[in-house]
Amino acid sequence: MTDKQTKKRLIALAVLLCVVVISLFSEMFIFTHANHEHDHDGVHGGCTACEQIYNFENLKKQISAAVCGASFAFLSLFAVVSIIKCIYFQIELSSLVSLKIRMNN
Ligand SMILES: [Zn+2]
Repeated sequence: MTDKQTKKRLIALAVLLCVVVISLFSEMFIFTHANHEHDHDGVHGGCTACEQIYNFENLKKQISAAVCGASFAFLSLFAVVSIIKCIYFQIELSSLVSLKIRMNN
């Protein structure tokens, strides 16, 4: 493994850890503010805690939809590649050359 690949993997791991930590803090915020007293000091006179909870719930829905879509796409691609690979091997195994049939008789 080259030094450049190691750096890329470390950066990807750091980004993953940041996303996990932010998600955990957001869940902790929702858990601690589930039964809060509503104030009306937020934007448009709404409750600030309720707006934060609503925004995080929306973000979670969008991320889960994206992750599910990407997983479905990768699984579909894997299935198609596996099927094509099997068909390719079937064609290869039944060719005249592989069966050693002479055509000049
Ligand atoms: Zn509230």
